[in-house]
Formats: sequence, C-alpha cells, structure tokens
Amino acid sequence: MTTCIGFGAHEAHGKLSPLRIERRALRDDDVAISIAYCGVCHSDLHFVHNDWNSTVFPCVPGHEIVGHVTAVGAGVTRYKVGDSVAVGCMVDSCQHCAPCEDHQEQFCAGMTPTYNGKDRQTGDLTYGGYSDSIVVREKFVLRVPASLDLRFASPLLCAGITVWNPMRRFGIGKGSKVAVVGLGGLGHMGVKLAAALGAEVTVITTSPGKADDARDLGAHHVLLSTDPQAMQSAFNRFDFILDTIPTRHNLNPYLMLLGRNGQLVLVGAIEPLEPIHGGLLMRNNRSIAGSLFGGLQATQELLDFCAEHNVLPSCEMIAIQDINSAFERMQKNDVKYRFVIDMQSIKDVRID
Ligand code: NAP
Ligand code: ZN
Repeated sequence: MTTCIGFGAHEAHGKLSPLRIERRALRDDDVAISIAYCGVCHSDLHFVHNDWNSTVFPCVPGHEIVGHVTAVGAGVTRYKVGDSVAVGCMVDSCQHCAPCEDHQEQFCAGMTPTYNGKDRQTGDLTYGGYSDSIVVREKFVLRVPASLDLRFASPLLCAGITVWNPMRRFGIGKGSKVAVVGLGGLGHMGVKLAAALGAEVTVITTSPGKADDARDLGAHHVLLSTDPQAMQSAFNRFDFILDTIPTRHNLNPYLMLLGRNGQLVLVGAIEPLEPIHGGLLMRNNRSIAGSLFGGLQATQELLDFCAEHNVLPSCEMIAIQDINSAFERMQKNDVKYRFVIDMQSIKDVRID
C-alpha cells in the first residue's frame, strides 16, 4: 500500500481540502499511474453535494484522469512504465455478464465507479483523480495516442465519451441536424464532436454571452432558449437533440424542436423531470432516450478519433488549490469549457 495526497470533501457541501489516502499494493493485473491532469465534471459537484443521496464521505472526486504509468503488476502485458494512459468513470466490472461481453461495462451490475465505488475484492471505498496517483486494473486503463496533447485529453474520459456514445448509437454524421442544449463541459464536446462527424450543429443556450464561443467551437447556429420567438422558429427542425442540462427541467420546449423520427437524448439531469406532454412525443414519432458515459472500447475509439481528427477539449487549467472556486464558478455556468487540474500543483500541498 502507498499513501498519497488527495483532495476531498468530508461532508455534503463541504469544501474540498487535502487528505491522505491509501492506494493498494499492485495486484498482478494492476497499473500504477502518476496523475498529470484531471478534468472537473459537474458530476463531481453533484457527488460532493450528495445530490443523489449516495455519496460516502470522504469523497475524493475525479474521473477524467490522464497520466503516466509508474509501475505494473507481474501479469500486465499492455502497458509499461512511462506510457501515457487514461482512466475514465469506472475502474472495474465483472467481465462476464452480457453488458461486459457487449463492451458496455458501464451497465454491469458489478461495475466499480472510479470514485464513490467499492473495490470488487476488498469492498474498500474508491477514490478518484483529484490526487497525485491511482492504481487501476489494466483492463480499465486506456491508451492516450502519442499525437493527443495530454494537457487537453482528460475531458474526453467523461464529457467526451458521454456525448460521443449517443451520437454513434444514433448514427450522427453528414447531413444530421444536431442541437446541443447547454454549453458547458459535455455540451462543448457535443459541438466539437458533432461538427467533426459532419453534422450541422446548433447550440441552445441560456447564456447570450456564449454565442460567439459557440461558433468558435464549431456550431453553425445559436438559439437562445429564453427567447420564445427564436424557439418557435426552430419547431420541427432537428434530427437529434443532446440535452446536457444538469438539473430538473422541462423537456417539452425542446421536444417541439424535433422533426420526424427525431430523438432527444438526455445525458445531463440525473433526477425526476417535469412532466412530459405525450402529444409532443406522438407528433413526428419523436422519442426520448438516455445515455450513460460509455464502455472501454468506445472510449478508446474516441481517444483515437480525437487524435486522428485533432479534436481537443477547450480547457481552463487550474491548480488543485483552486478547486473550490472552480466548483463555485461551475454552479454559475461560468465554465469555459472544462476546468482541468494540473496535478503538478499538488506537489506544493502539505498535510500537517
Ligand atoms: P457544466 O459544465 O456545468 O454545463 C452544464 C451547462 O448546462 C451550463 O453551462 C449551462 O449552459 C446549462 N445549464 C445549467 N443550468 C441550467 C438550467 N437550470 N437550465 C438550462 N440550462 C442550464 O456541466 P457538465 O459537466 O457538462 O455536466 C452536465 C450534466 O451531465 C451534469 O448533471 C452531470 O452530472 C451530467 N453527466 C452525465 C453523464 C452521463 O453519463 N450521462 C456523464 C457526465 C456528466 P448554458 O450557459 O449554455 O445554458
Ligand atoms: Zn463526469
């Protein structure tokens, strides 16, 4: 076992502060990773606030992890010391159920989340990437292609895969009319990836000040959701709407924007929604789907796609010491467009 430094919360809504955490001694199929960068996901904030009544404290968040291999277990074959690697939202699963065999490990009943999960062998609480190092089962470690700049790669591990997965599932490509609701971490990756796949992209935002950024990120059009006339002018327009709004909201104004056989995919609000009008679903054969991050194979595919097509998240680099103010800014929709912790900063942290 090794002791490392993490940043975590000790109670719901508590400020994150440095704490010592243990990383297990390497099992045969384990990889030890020195964390270089970790993205800050809105889910991290939800967990620290215990919004889903499931948080076990202390909670050390972080599931957008990139870094370098520092040691490998005796049976590890795919990685060696020095390799650039990544870890996303999960660190283990059973490996033999139908979802695991289908490369959808995120739906395995025994899936272990990167943080706030239970180790499958010991039952110990898992701690995430707001820390200097982590130990992860080889199977759950992904390769960062050499041409992908490590500084910008981390948001692909959650924000990226969460929007990539439904776009692949619903065949988004050239000619697709895509709308992305909410221009934050997930939303900005939705814009970049949909544009890279050849779609015509519209950003639907509550923030008029984000219009220029939306176009710079690759959107062809911007729609202000608070402008009823603009919304009305877009009725029946889209084939696919990606909804990243992080709280309870009303889907009906967005459903009206779907054309024939259009789909709205919900990835943001992990909670009960306001009632949906059945008539809006029947008209145009509309449907609503959900999507939960993505499996290992799809995540590796995304990393490779982004390396090949030079699609990079837009990151605001912060020191770990700035994490509490980053959380506050995220609550005010002031993220441009993903905070990424430069983990060099944790070297200055002392715990008395
Ligand atoms: P984020 O960076 O904070 O972005 C969310 C954006 O949604 C905001 O920038 C804002 O964009 C818009 N928004 C916020 N509050 C709103 C409201 N009340 N009404 C309308 N729009 C609102 O968050 P994120 O990291 O992208 O995460 C978004 C959500 O996805 C979170 O709830 C997170 O837990 C969830 N998530 C789900 C999965 C999954 O597997 N399904 C994976 C990761 C995250 P505008 O300023 O443009 O309006
Ligand atoms: Zn996330």
